[in-house]
Amino acid sequence: MRRSEAVPRHAAVEAPDLSSPSVALLPGDGIGPEIVVAARRVLDAVGEFEYVELPVGGASIDIHGTALTDEVLERCRAADAVLLGAVGGPKWDTTDPGAPRPEQGLLGLRKGLGLYANLRPVKPSGALLGASPLREERIAGTDLLVVRELTGGIYFGESGRDGDRAHDDCAYTVGEIERISRVAFDAARGRRGRLTSVDKANVLETSRLWRETVTRIAAEYEDVEVDHLLVDNAAMQLVSEPTRFDVIVTENLFGDILSDEAAMLTGSLGMLPSASLGGEGPGLFEPVHGSAPDIAGRGIANPLATILSAAMMLRHGLGLAAEADAIEAAVETVLDAGLRTPDLAAEADAAVGTEQVTAAILDRLRP
Ligand code: NAD
Repeated sequence: MRRSEAVPRHAAVEAPDLSSPSVALLPGDGIGPEIVVAARRVLDAVGEFEYVELPVGGASIDIHGTALTDEVLERCRAADAVLLGAVGGPKWDTTDPGAPRPEQGLLGLRKGLGLYANLRPVKPSGALLGASPLREERIAGTDLLVVRELTGGIYFGESGRDGDRAHDDCAYTVGEIERISRVAFDAARGRRGRLTSVDKANVLETSRLWRETVTRIAAEYEDVEVDHLLVDNAAMQLVSEPTRFDVIVTENLFGDILSDEAAMLTGSLGMLPSASLGGEGPGLFEPVHGSAPDIAGRGIANPLATILSAAMMLRHGLGLAAEADAIEAAVETVLDAGLRTPDLAAEADAAVGTEQVTAAILDRLRP
């Protein structure tokens, strides 16, 4: 099968005087390098980009003893967009609170780039309805967007140990809630005009502030219909009636959990892209799944979430919507044609590897 040769270079043809957009590639750990290289080949099929490849997570701990160096952060800041694979793995698992952990690389990037809004679209592909653990008739028509607050809450509060006691503090300010609410209301406006705010206002003070603030901001968006759900109820409704949701907005910890739950509606974590936005500089685009150390190096990782993250990068980070559409359409065609990595395949015998799926997408992107 022919692959990336003889591909049109749109940016070079249409805007020869402009330099190519620069993309910081952060493969990370586990399957990260395998799926990022697949996404890079797909990007090269729709345009011309300048890449800088940088270590993050465990890969950075191995070289520098820290999950994110100042230099890597600076080079990401200087790029037009950042595409990340995944970080972490058993090699760096530790319960020593003083030891460096791969996840610190992610948190440091989000904080350092000022990325406070994480967008995770969940729209199961028609060809994959059968791959979902839920019944087809329950998920058919699901098309939702989880907007998760990314730089506040319990993940960024004070934490520590005192003898046999440990604590992680959760805090939110009105300003933090206002800005994520506006991202979510704007997104709802561009979609079906429904916003569900998720909190735990019957128990948590931060949630009561969250609900008050979202309700106040709602007055600016009279065209958006808002409802509030407690997080336990939201978790149930995501599986019992996922089609009721349009945009969901929630705080950091609830968003982390609910977006993984929503991911399963698609049948595989390997299908879900995400965008982290909000800062003055570049956005960060990455698959929702982790580094899948159980399958790393076997050539069977599903590259689609990363390829779809690259499409989100083109659309939300680089203003190249037509190229993003082309990639998404190619992914859909490949799924329609029945090509599946093992995480999606109904029968293991019928599954193909990362390389075959990537090559098939490249084939469809060719004129
Ligand atoms: P995981 O998402 O890595 O894997 C969960 C399951 O899904 C595994 O069985 C894995 O094989 C499968 N899977 C995930 N992505 C896949 C893909 N693209 N193709 C095929 N199968 C895929 O979650 P985990 O096992 O809980 O965590 C593994 C490591 O990843 C841990 O170190 C964790 O801390 C880290 N992690 C990183 C991120 C991130 O970088 N954003 C997110 C979650 C977890």
